[in-house]
Parts: sequence; structure tokens; C-alpha cells
Amino acid sequence: MGTYAVTGSASGMGRATATRLRADGHTVIGVDLAGAEVTADLSTPDGRADAAQRVLTAADGCLHGAVLAAGLGPSDRLHTIAEVNHVSVVTLLEQWRPALAAAESAKVVVIGSNSATTTPAVPKRTVRALLACDVERAVRSLRFLGPARPAMMYAASKIAVSRWARRTAVRPDWAGAGIRLNVLAPGAVLTPLLEAQLANPRQGKAVRRFPIPVGGFGDPDALSRWAQFMTSDAADFLCGSVVVVDGGTDAYFRADDWPRPVPLRALAPYLKRFLA
Ligand code: NAD
Repeated sequence: MGTYAVTGSASGMGRATATRLRADGHTVIGVDLAGAEVTADLSTPDGRADAAQRVLTAADGCLHGAVLAAGLGPSDRLHTIAEVNHVSVVTLLEQWRPALAAAESAKVVVIGSNSATTTPAVPKRTVRALLACDVERAVRSLRFLGPARPAMMYAASKIAVSRWARRTAVRPDWAGAGIRLNVLAPGAVLTPLLEAQLANPRQGKAVRRFPIPVGGFGDPDALSRWAQFMTSDAADFLCGSVVVVDGGTDAYFRADDWPRPVPLRALAPYLKRFLA
């Protein structure tokens, strides 16, 4: 049995995942604003530093896995979305990396979103600013987008965190240290976060009209089973993947976008070694 950190453990998919891991006999160190083993505000540098350290202490320096589920939906709180959905994932995982490596076959699941691939016209500069963890620049980059800003910041945060996870997952100090880092990208799942969106007249209409080919919203407990699977030994060969579980929305819009051949420029380092 192992020790797992779960952020956002007080509600929705984080809570369902923590419950499931505990039922499997694991020790879960939950992190949330309230109602968790570690109470911390992941939107501030101090809150993140405190949470990172307290989890390491509680885990005695060895983490068998982590599920990063703390997050906010689209709203006017642009800074907070960027801080929690992207920056907190990067900073916590960078600080937990040695403890994950100590477990030798740790599994990490970052909860992304299909908003990363189904939201149109997300500014590249916003994603770039987030990847640099420059929240001020990310917020500034959206200043002319008026009412689209919440959806754009939300989608940009999920694109950035997914890209960071994929870039990081394959590095020798992650993949080579036995850590498996992957992204679970849900579609619309009926949690308090989605309920708040449904209660907002503008967002609610957009959410209800968005196509979900299987019909209806996802269930947090069903999503927690994917997180459970992705934190199990079954994920030993899963590395840098974005697992989309969204009732078909991404396939509905993007069926022909992927798979597609790798661009030659991406193969350049490999070809250089191959031809040497
Ligand atoms: P939720 O609101 O039920 O749970 C999110 C949890 O994160 C809450 O317990 C909240 O207190 C915590 N949190 C928020 N800000 C925090 C902060 N500053 N510090 C510490 N904890 C904080 O939402 P959910 O739907 O279970 O969302 C979980 C993740 O899934 C989020 O990253 C969300 O973006 C993502 N997601 C949700 C949906 C959906 O439809 N529900 C779809 C795709 C992705």
C-alpha cells in the first residue's frame, strides 16, 4: 500500500479519487482550502510552499503517487485560475519529484480538461506566458478579449498544464526515475464546479448546448476510476499521455486532427544520432 497526495480532495473528482484510493488501502494526504489533511491556498506562493512541505513531511519523503485535481472553472478570477490550474501543479510536482523518485515506480495524474482541445482561438501568447509561469503577462495578454476572457484563461491553463506534463514526463529525471506522469482530460462532469457553471445564465447555456455524443454529463466517481487506473501498475508503460474521457466531444470536433505524422523537425535530434 502506498502514500498518495491528492489536491482538491474536498470536492468533486479529487474527493472521489481520494475516497477510492483510501478504499484500496492507501494513505491519502489531501490538500484543499478546507476539509483536508493539509489546508492550504494553492493560489499563493506561500500557500503552495506550505502545502508542498507539509505533504513531504506527512509522507516521510516518499510519495507513491499524486493526483492534481485542485482547480477552478472559467470565471473572472483570471489570476486565480492561472495560479491554481497551472502554476500550482508545476510548483508542487517540482518540489515533490525527489519524493516520487524515492518510491521508484510513482504515478502522477494531472487533471487537465478537454477544454484544452475543444476551445477555439485560445491565444498562443497566453499559453506561452503560463508555461513561463508569468501570471501577470498571461492575464495582460487577454486584456482585449472582453467577455471571452474567463473561457480563454481556463482553456489556456489546461493547454499549458498538459504541455508542461508531456514535456516533463519524458525527461530522464522523471521517466528515467520511474515516475509516470500523465494527464486525465475530462469533459463536462457533474461536480460543484460544473453546477456553478450551469447556474450562470451565459455559461450554463453554452455548457448545455455543447455536444456530448454519448448524451449527458460525466460522473465524478466514474472519472475517479480512471485516476485509480492511471495510478496503478497498469500505468507502468503510460508516459506523457493525455487520456481524454469526455463522452466523445473531442472526437466530435477533432476526429481528423489526430493521429497525424510527426513533423520532420521534431525528429531532427533522433535523425542526427541515427545518421552519425
Ligand atoms: P470541484 O470544484 O468539485 O473541486 C475542485 C477542488 O479544488 C475544490 O475542493 C476546491 O476547494 C479546490 N481548490 C480550488 N481552488 C483552490 C485553492 N486555491 N487551493 C486549494 N484548493 C483549491 O471541481 P471538479 O470538477 O472536481 O474539478 C477538478 C479538476 O477537474 C479541476 O482542475 C477542473 O478544472 C477539472 N475539470 C473539471 C471538469 C468538470 O466538468 N467538472 C471538466 C474538465 C476538467
